[in-house]
Amino acid sequence: MIIPVKKRIQIFDTTLRDGEQAPGASLTPEQKIILAGKLADLRVDVMEPGFPVSSPGDFAAVETISRNIQGVEICGFARAVKGDIDAAVRATRDAARRRIHLFISSSDIHLRHQLRMSRPEVVAVAREMTAYARQFCDVVEFTAMDAARTGIDDLIEMVEAVIEEGASIINLPDTVGYALPQEYGEMFRRVRLGARGGDKVIYSAHCHNDLGLAVANSLAAIEGGATQIEVTVNGVGERTGNCALEELVMALETRGDSIGAETGIVLDKLYDTSRMISGAMHFPIAFNKPVVGRNAFQHESGIHQDGLLKDRSTYEIMDPERLGIPRSMIILGKHSGRHALKDRAAKYGIALDSAELDALYESFKETADRQKAVSDDELLRMVSSTTGQQAQIYALGEVQVLAGSAPRRVAAVTVRHLQSGAETTQTSTGDGPLEAIIAAIGQGIAEDIRFDGLELHSLGSGGNAQAEAAVMVEWKDTKFRGTAIHHDIVMAAGIAYIAACNAALLSESEMPSPGSAVNS
Ligand code: MN
Repeated sequence: MIIPVKKRIQIFDTTLRDGEQAPGASLTPEQKIILAGKLADLRVDVMEPGFPVSSPGDFAAVETISRNIQGVEICGFARAVKGDIDAAVRATRDAARRRIHLFISSSDIHLRHQLRMSRPEVVAVAREMTAYARQFCDVVEFTAMDAARTGIDDLIEMVEAVIEEGASIINLPDTVGYALPQEYGEMFRRVRLGARGGDKVIYSAHCHNDLGLAVANSLAAIEGGATQIEVTVNGVGERTGNCALEELVMALETRGDSIGAETGIVLDKLYDTSRMISGAMHFPIAFNKPVVGRNAFQHESGIHQDGLLKDRSTYEIMDPERLGIPRSMIILGKHSGRHALKDRAAKYGIALDSAELDALYESFKETADRQKAVSDDELLRMVSSTTGQQAQIYALGEVQVLAGSAPRRVAAVTVRHLQSGAETTQTSTGDGPLEAIIAAIGQGIAEDIRFDGLELHSLGSGGNAQAEAAVMVEWKDTKFRGTAIHHDIVMAAGIAYIAACNAALLSESEMPSPGSAVNS
């Protein structure tokens, strides 16, 4: 039997260049340097950290990244203009491996209305600037901007010219997100077969998501012969953004046998990288975003929950733990069944007999009918009140947080240890009220549990708005998550933090939690 060899797809990350062009997403040079390290850990093959000529800060960021980030090729972005190329060459000078990436438009629309140049003029510039860049750098990537809207013969003419001058990577972008998968793939096939020297270069796709087709078009490009895909983390970028790194990688990971391609990305860093980029760019991730969205692995329907608890493969095509996402979090809501409830309680070390489960289920349904979701914290309180079982280690007592225009926010919090009845009141300050309450609670927890992040979402709007908080903590090298819903955003965060600490401490109390050490 012949085992087909999968094509290795090069992942070209442009989060720090095209991604940063998303409105409001700009990064400081210091942030870029930190994020570049994360992208290198994720093992992207090529990284485009900026547009050196565009600002002194971007130049400095590309220069520092070129000096310090190992194991990844660094790319300097440039218009097909000498000054841009000079800046890109200087900024990337100290990289162990580097390339210059220059671009000029190829479509009639751009030539006529933007460049105001004739086709022979544009081809001459492309040729001349490729030769110019090649004097300084062995690896030149050439982008025919708006390639997807360029006549195929015009495109082939330009590609032949730059290949002749030594460009070894040809990027054919769908700059405006207009192409359909079949025609985008076909463009690669025709250029690859039609251009003189076209069989000796690497082809690259760069897709925008205006019609929601960036990932589909990138996969079509792979079918058409592209072996490099330009992506951004979370799909950030101009307008609706670029092909999302995590979506493309997981499509190849999940369906690689059909596609015949694979990447070198370290999967279990995908989730953390996504969260970090989202935080640094202040760019929230939609709940229903594939792979990394809050709901990507949450199942509400009772039928789905039941199937999932019996065997994950019934309703999940990817294993969230492989992506570094805490074990599949089932949202408890009005569609949840007894099975899901019992399973969730068991994760906190609580065993319920059938009478207890019936009583809990009844009060759970009542709450679930009134609100969108039932948090772990509420569930544990229901367990306590319906069965008398002690389902919490710590509880929040009095909370007082001062928010407002004063420079520091102050929180005073009483934390109660339920078994011993011991109470401690702690005071702390922070730049914001959330920081203050988290610090105060942390002081009130005796065990050395590390706070590892907070996510807040708003549920509903107007008078009925509630905050949903999720807090991650780390305890003995394992991550735990607690959630809470409250009308007061600061209280939601505090209760979720306590719930996460309880999850961590309960995990070692009784029976090992089924399936995984990570509770939700
Ligand atoms: Mn772009």
